[in-house]
Amino acid sequence: MSPPLCRFCRAPLTRTFLDLGEQPLANSYLTPEQLAAGDEPVFPLHTRVCDRCFLVQADHDVPAEAIFDAGYAYFSSFSSGWVEHARRYAGAMIERFGLGPESLVVEVASNDGYLLKHFLARDIPVLGIEPTANTAEAARAIGVRTEVVFFNAETGQKLAARGDRADLMAANNVLAHVPDLNAFVAGFQHVLKPQGVLTFEFPHLLNLIEKVQFDTIYHEHYSYLSLLAVEQVLRAHGLRPFDVELLATHGGSLRLFCCHLGSGHDETDALRDLRAREAVAGLHKPETYDGFAARVEAVRDSFLAFLRTAKDDGKAISAYGAAAKGNTFLNYCGTTAADIVCAYDANPAKQGRYLPGSHIPVFAPSAVGETRPDYVLILPWNLKDEIMTQLAFIADWGGRFVVASPETKVVGG
Ligand SMILES: [Zn+2]
Repeated sequence: MSPPLCRFCRAPLTRTFLDLGEQPLANSYLTPEQLAAGDEPVFPLHTRVCDRCFLVQADHDVPAEAIFDAGYAYFSSFSSGWVEHARRYAGAMIERFGLGPESLVVEVASNDGYLLKHFLARDIPVLGIEPTANTAEAARAIGVRTEVVFFNAETGQKLAARGDRADLMAANNVLAHVPDLNAFVAGFQHVLKPQGVLTFEFPHLLNLIEKVQFDTIYHEHYSYLSLLAVEQVLRAHGLRPFDVELLATHGGSLRLFCCHLGSGHDETDALRDLRAREAVAGLHKPETYDGFAARVEAVRDSFLAFLRTAKDDGKAISAYGAAAKGNTFLNYCGTTAADIVCAYDANPAKQGRYLPGSHIPVFAPSAVGETRPDYVLILPWNLKDEIMTQLAFIADWGGRFVVASPETKVVGG
């Protein structure tokens, strides 16, 4: 069988980064009926790195329809940390780029309007582009003009043709989620004004590698991005980065500031420094990507050792945050409801359902006080501080927190 081709440069993909085998969709939370029916679909989850452009990517596309039909909706506004992140972003962009009532801010993957509402509050016109109808509806309900459409070269052209040209475009945590990277990035050059600014936020591949964040690998993420790879994709579509900020979100993300190739934005030292840092880390060498799998196995072994000890001691373990990344982790480790009695999540859409693969039941956070676990495993480690503050009361019965990345540790309490 011939190898799959790179989704950016079409070179054959012959080098494995991490093969997680067959896994259910990380966001397919099962209803009791689906659990009873017992026919949960699984799909290959095998990531490879391109030896030509060094884009790390899933080699198999789960159809986007399967993912969006998963009966699950992610509402950004359910995470208070994320809402605050959005508010600060809006304030910083308005100030730096002098946005006002004459400007237009366009967000791609605008979800429930969690970000654009902060621009609206300052009388700056906005347009959200969001493929999921129910989140788009929530955005409209708060006055955020929203188009229900997949963003790509064709839809970008249509928006520009009807006069929607942006001074600022935001695409936060979406670049990794698009199967057709070229068609997606090609859309921006149409909508962005000649001197407009485009910001992409995405988890940085360098953190994934250095901190062994393999649980960020799941079917909805088709690409795992470095500046090295993204810069090549941008330039192929008439765009270039000119500045970068390092963010703490998702365990270490980049906010890349981009513009048209011919626009006047000067390249900053921060961007040059990051390029140099990736070069020092060897992201331009195939051998840098070898050996990642062995480090992932070590993370799993550390967690399984903790589980064994906790079970021997008769401790009850539950999990907090039924996030996608938690499902990759639990399923890779072979964890089931026999190991972890339940998971808590603030999103009502997940409550009363079961985690894909592991079949751990999901309860509302109010159940923490009723179930009184000895250990609360924090699955979304990027929200660790937020969760530990919210659940500080577990100390009342001697409960303690556990994080499993990059090795399993009991924290706090
Ligand atoms: Zn490639």
